[in-house]
Amino acid sequence: MKLYEKAPAKINLMLDVLHKRPDGYHEVEMIMTMVDLADRLTITELPGHTIKISSQAGYIPLDDKNLAYQAASKIKERYGIRQGVHIHIDKQIPVAAGLAGGSSDAAAALRGLNRLWKLDIPHEDMMELGASIGSDVPFCITGGTALATGRGERLTPLPSPPDCWVILAKPPINVSTAGVYGRLRADQIKQHPSAAAMQQAIEQQSFEAICSGLGNVLEDVTLSHYPEVQQLKQTMQQLGADGVLMSGSGPTVFGLVSKESKVARIYNGLRGFCHEVYAVRMLT
Ligand code: ATP
Repeated sequence: MKLYEKAPAKINLMLDVLHKRPDGYHEVEMIMTMVDLADRLTITELPGHTIKISSQAGYIPLDDKNLAYQAASKIKERYGIRQGVHIHIDKQIPVAAGLAGGSSDAAAALRGLNRLWKLDIPHEDMMELGASIGSDVPFCITGGTALATGRGERLTPLPSPPDCWVILAKPPINVSTAGVYGRLRADQIKQHPSAAAMQQAIEQQSFEAICSGLGNVLEDVTLSHYPEVQQLKQTMQQLGADGVLMSGSGPTVFGLVSKESKVARIYNGLRGFCHEVYAVRMLT
């Protein structure tokens, strides 16, 4: 028995940090949506008990540090599954990029194993399993577009934003999410983006209001350490993207573009600066 699961990347249309909680997590408000850039998981049963992870990408962990491994391990333990599994990850999403690639792989593994072993796991249990792996995993399980609060695991579904192009550019640096949150001084944030305004922009299907409402309080932290991310933002703006923002803790910068005629020019312009550039659609 073999099956496939797609694990799409996410971008943050807005990301705000309200305060640091006594448990060490940050209380956040984020609006996230999926884009059509995805890893592909091939899930095959193995004899015995082992969980085997493989990937064509040489730079992700293949042991129990891989989030897809953790997903398999937790499902096996919770539901008493005495069966091995091989998960091959065809990695297309840039790693440590602010695009939740690892979280999406974990979510796809949970969805796929739920199907493979016909477990019929109730939605709340899937979300709880996901949250025990990482704060972004519950969103990656449901997909679509959502407002995420708490530490990112409490979700309110939203309508899809209007269809548009998303140009993603990742400079050749890896940014640790924990490092960025560690350097953030939540009490000194100068300007908080508005989740309510972004939610309204999406509900009204206003592409212009979505572009003007983009905001991410982690930008100041990452941009002050990596001037090349700031430069990339400016270049994308100069090339004519309608709205530009860093995703998550970075360093990937995305540009929203409504007119297809502008996409090739922006893409080609960025390729002069940056090796990893993708022009994809928003997943609506
Ligand atoms: P987020 O936006 O959720 O913070 P990210 O896009 O910044 O995520 P990931 O691509 O998920 O970051 O990778 C972060 C780290 O997680 C990597 O450095 C890698 O060591 C580890 N990791 C574990 N499992 C995976 C996986 N399946 N794919 C990629 N990285 C993984």
